[in-house]
Amino acid sequence: MSTITDVRHYPMYIDGQWVDADERADVIDPATAEVIGTVPMGGVADTDRAVAAALAAHRRGDWRSRTPEERAEVMERIVEILNERMDDLVELHVRENGVTIRQAMAFHVGYAISHLQYFADLARSYEFERSGKLLSYPTAAAGLIRREPIGVVAGIVPWNFPLLLAIWKIGPALAAGNCIVIKPDLQTPLTLLEFARAAEEAGLPAGVLNVVTGDGPEVGGRLADHPDVRKIAFTGSTAVGREIQARASVNVKRTTLELGGKGPNVILEDADLDTAVDAALFACCLYQGQACESGTRLILPSCLHDEFVERMVRRAADIRLGDPADFDTDMGPIINAKQKQRILDYIALAETEGATVAYRGTAPDGPGFWVAPTILTDVTNDMTVAREEIFGPVLCVLKADTVAEAIAIANDTEYGLSAGVWSEDVDAALDVARQLESGTVWVNDWHMVNAEYPFGGYKQSGLGRELGPHALDEYTEEKFIHIDLSRDKSRRVYDIVLPESS
Ligand code: NAD
Repeated sequence: MSTITDVRHYPMYIDGQWVDADERADVIDPATAEVIGTVPMGGVADTDRAVAAALAAHRRGDWRSRTPEERAEVMERIVEILNERMDDLVELHVRENGVTIRQAMAFHVGYAISHLQYFADLARSYEFERSGKLLSYPTAAAGLIRREPIGVVAGIVPWNFPLLLAIWKIGPALAAGNCIVIKPDLQTPLTLLEFARAAEEAGLPAGVLNVVTGDGPEVGGRLADHPDVRKIAFTGSTAVGREIQARASVNVKRTTLELGGKGPNVILEDADLDTAVDAALFACCLYQGQACESGTRLILPSCLHDEFVERMVRRAADIRLGDPADFDTDMGPIINAKQKQRILDYIALAETEGATVAYRGTAPDGPGFWVAPTILTDVTNDMTVAREEIFGPVLCVLKADTVAEAIAIANDTEYGLSAGVWSEDVDAALDVARQLESGTVWVNDWHMVNAEYPFGGYKQSGLGRELGPHALDEYTEEKFIHIDLSRDKSRRVYDIVLPESS
């Protein structure tokens, strides 16, 4: 069981100060429905103060004028502090968003720290400046191509991976020399505030990182509108992403959007079923299905359907739901009561539309918000459950008679974030992978999100990519400086406009 028994009251972090607000919001443990912390309800004035602090720090050059090596060293000090506090961070994470302790250690917190280290390394290796001779220019000249920080960037993150997804924005922003204002979801702000404490202790200058807690539309909306925010990186639902993009377009902000998904998991006839069966459940049920990259549409060859479903049902019955702080627990709670009801409504609707509940596990009785893993068969791709993101442990099973039909079903969606294909024949799997309209395709795997590989969506799953060797491109402006080195005035081109001087 968790050792966090106290209720923690956090201020927010603006301009190197820990500040409060008139009102506070409760942070609820979704496994117990108990209050585990409170944070300030920041508003527009706090957001404006944070943006002003970030802009002032940027203009003073407090961060951008440091060398990439110096920036990397501060980021590495943050990594060290986070590693020292790993146990506390994991516990806090488990309590604030209901992820199981094993997942929190491996993914939510473990990846967050290692991905920050990746961005520190990227600060060192990224080509911020490139020079060269301009061969096509008629006189001697040199060109300098620079990647410069954009200035003030904003990040808005959801509740499902609150620390990891914040680091996907803070990491490249800091590595590139920007100042950042970031807004966590009000349900899960605690680990990010702990991150800010570590950043302060590591010596990050005031104003370079600001964390504003508060209402989504109010604080997030202001960040999207603010004329001094030059780039916004948003992770969340497609509906809010559309709104952010529209608002950001008013002052032509750069945007990266990481949005929803409806991941198709395509099984080919020669797949290794022992692995594919477990992986289909893993793809759908990691973090209770509350991951954007979940595999929620399982597309089976008709000839394998019955056996595959039977084996999945048997394996699903092994999944243990319960206290997420217990190492033996496989699945924890759903984030809140509203989301739980939404998932249950989708299951009921699926039955109305003709799907069959092939399996429904047993959820713990309250307190907390629980939905057991559910497998729906007889699903067709036009049903609501096959088209909309449920964000819960609900697997939709579809049938296809041919590989071409499976690919057509997989691509028949407005989303395109993640997909998978299973086959013992790598050529056949690659052939399918190339045809899937998706930012990530896993072959014989799922949920492998590596800092070294770009992550992002096709279609309405997003815009731009996070992670990967080009991550800093999204956080820099490209500038070209032309230097004329010629002493030969006669070769200049000014005479196109100016007559010869007398
Ligand atoms: P959400 O869109 O409701 O909220 C995301 C963030 O936006 C939160 O911080 C919220 O406070 C803020 N927000 C809400 N309304 C806003 C507004 N009008 N203006 C500005 N900000 C606003 O999403 P959620 O329910 O918190 O998260 C679940 C969604 O996130 C799912 O759709 C999931 O697929 C998506 N997601 C995507 C990725 C990815 O990388 N593609 C990763 C995780 C989650």
